[in-house]
Amino acid sequence: MTNIHAHYLKAMGIQVWVRRHLPPTLTEEPSPMTDTAQVSQTPQVAPVHELDWEALQNRVAACTACSLHKTRTKTVFGVGNRQADLMFIGEAPGADEDAQGEPFVGRAGLMLNAMLYAIDLKRESVYITNVVKCRPPENRNPDKHELDCCHAFLLQQIVLVKPKLIVAVGRVAAHHLLVTETAIGKLRGQGFEYGENKIPLIATYHPAYLLRRPSEKRHAWQDLQFINQRLAELKR
Ligand code: URA
Repeated sequence: MTNIHAHYLKAMGIQVWVRRHLPPTLTEEPSPMTDTAQVSQTPQVAPVHELDWEALQNRVAACTACSLHKTRTKTVFGVGNRQADLMFIGEAPGADEDAQGEPFVGRAGLMLNAMLYAIDLKRESVYITNVVKCRPPENRNPDKHELDCCHAFLLQQIVLVKPKLIVAVGRVAAHHLLVTETAIGKLRGQGFEYGENKIPLIATYHPAYLLRRPSEKRHAWQDLQFINQRLAELKR
């Protein structure tokens, strides 16, 4: 802007208007430098499907997408071998898991450990997580919104682990992953495939259910043998 222009504009009160109503950078000559500076000030949030393990865990820890964040003590991300062939996916943290920040550490967790031991597997050799990462109050079932809010986190965990076989632990996990309402007693004993990559999936009873109904342990034992046999085939 020339001095003469500035003089006329000032006389007409225009410069005053411009300075009051536009951001400071727009009252100056546009330059590539100021444009770049403005773009880089916009916070960039990477989509969940681009996150590595550390960034994903941090994103889960900071999540406030559903109301479960208001009552949680700790988020419960997942535990075990991040390159495991077998990935166990349960329902949601209970009181013990919420306090410790680790899945399956309460009574159901001890039962799951025993189930793994029965097929010669250690807890550390598999990857364990839940479809929902925060404890629902009073251990109620997670609702659809809560399941949806956590879904991208679970998908990215599956992408990062690249398991050969997924085990859906219990009705809630099986229904969510298989998008069905078929009874778990009918889903168990069958082979399914999960997602675009068609990862083999087997559903079984939840260890908490087995604690309430010990007579079903014989079916769980059959499921474990099926899991073991399928895994051996997939490793060939
Ligand atoms: N039940 C689950 O489904 N997950 C846990 O982590 C604990 C209990």
